Amino acid sequence: MLLQWAGEEPEREGLRDTPTRVVRAYRDWFSGYLSDPADYLRRTFEEVEGYDEMIVLRGIEFESHCEHHMAPIIGRVHIGYLPRDRVVGISKLARLVDVYAKRLQVQEKMTAEIANCLNSVLKPYGVGVVVEAAHECMTTRGVHKPGVTMVTSCLLGSFRTVPETREEFLSAINLKGGS
Ligand SMILES: [Zn+2]
Repeated sequence: MLLQWAGEEPEREGLRDTPTRVVRAYRDWFSGYLSDPADYLRRTFEEVEGYDEMIVLRGIEFESHCEHHMAPIIGRVHIGYLPRDRVVGISKLARLVDVYAKRLQVQEKMTAEIANCLNSVLKPYGVGVVVEAAHECMTTRGVHKPGVTMVTSCLLGSFRTVPETREEFLSAINLKGGS
């Protein structure tokens, strides 16, 4: 239907398998609906030999789609938390990002969802999530502003209430001073 609407002939050779391919691509792009993000965090590692400093995972790349245009959102997520007694394997954090990214998204919502999920499962002293991303609905159409990225953040617990903790996180991810 989309091919016809765009002015194409869906029967021509190059397009014959396109609907099947698109369905397969959508299955991949939106596979996040099939997983429970909290599952990835439930296998936590509690033995940390007294480690009680901030843990930061920087620059987790993600691809998502905006729920307004179904256009790609491409960017990076930075996650930090101050563990109370549980830490989680770093690949689990990357998986957590993927589960939320592979759904239709609004960047602000995705940022809060990642932070809230970490907060409720790991129950750390604090959590910080910063997302920087380019929205193709803005860079390739509409106002056409390539190179513009949007930055959103969600700081919970001590990341919100203790200025030193917030500073430590922001400088660890290199956002201090807004650069
Ligand atoms: Zn959009």
